[in-house]
Amino acid sequence: MKIRTSTLLVATLLMVLAIGTTDNTYAQKKNTKNKKKTEQKDKAKTDNIPDSIATAKKDSAEAVFENDVIDKVVREEAQAPKGPVMLTDPKRNLPSKMWYGVHFSDAYVKKPSVTLDSIPDEIKITLVKDYSEFCFPMKNVITSPYGWRERWDRPHRGVDIALNTGDPVKCAFNGVVRIAKSFGGYGNLVVVRHYNGLETVYGHLSRINVKQMQVVKAGDVIGYGGSTGHSTGPHLHFEVRFQYEPFDPEWILDFKNYSLRTRVLYLNKTYFGISKPRNKKDIAYKADKSIVKERPITPATNAPKKKTEYYTVKRGDTWEKVAKKYKVSETQLKSMNPSITGKLPVGEDIRVH
Ligand SMILES: [Zn+2]
Repeated sequence: MKIRTSTLLVATLLMVLAIGTTDNTYAQKKNTKNKKKTEQKDKAKTDNIPDSIATAKKDSAEAVFENDVIDKVVREEAQAPKGPVMLTDPKRNLPSKMWYGVHFSDAYVKKPSVTLDSIPDEIKITLVKDYSEFCFPMKNVITSPYGWRERWDRPHRGVDIALNTGDPVKCAFNGVVRIAKSFGGYGNLVVVRHYNGLETVYGHLSRINVKQMQVVKAGDVIGYGGSTGHSTGPHLHFEVRFQYEPFDPEWILDFKNYSLRTRVLYLNKTYFGISKPRNKKDIAYKADKSIVKERPITPATNAPKKKTEYYTVKRGDTWEKVAKKYKVSETQLKSMNPSITGKLPVGEDIRVH
């Protein structure tokens, strides 16, 4: 009987160890199950043995078992992420450094010194590689569109989406939170910078659910709807910006089907700008947004794909020197790094391919 009990325990231990290498949570559940089974069986077998002997035997055998389980649980807990996942190395991992450099401040929604002058007339933006990388932020009707508000004689830089206070508001694309605080007329505000080059803006929230520098995924609840700031009732004020400049979110979001219009956006400069209308026929933001559609994907060529490569600027480096080193022209190098004007900043990562 003694032999049988210890064989059972060894077998249980081996089983636990084998499972432990494949699936932790599953193993934990199994552990508890097996432990209960072992206890029940032990109890049945030890019913006729005097208490002192039974306890002593159980203690030594289970001590090994318990230690192993406790050790494992402690290890797992230490490994499990606590709270939100924060950006560990902001300098290296900031989203869309090509367009924004290392500027990542929560002091402003629009950086005043950045203008659209330096960007081309049409920019190809890969919004998502797969539609699973997108989430409609709030599936409800638009109560006030983007454009010039004649009633107030001022521009409206986003769309107002109907909601009830407390409704969860979801992040549109993967990215990193740039602003998460109360911000003037916006009320409780969240701004997320995305890897695709865009920023999305969520205003009037009743509660913010994220922190600055937090890494977020499409579909994560960034906050809850409300009516904070300059607002007349609960709604989501939602903006989409490129290079801090807003354009009508309806260019990318289809509010009829609650879907993304396209995976690749050819962002035209005429999509920007809200000025007081002089000639009602020429208002870009009133254009038919359904022209933005998924374009047929060009067949893959045999040419190897060019990989993006970065180089950390060292003391004494010049545009010319780095360009030569990576066999590109100085103009090409500058066009790959539009956020850098003047001398190369020492210690900063620049794109070289
Ligand atoms: Zn609004």
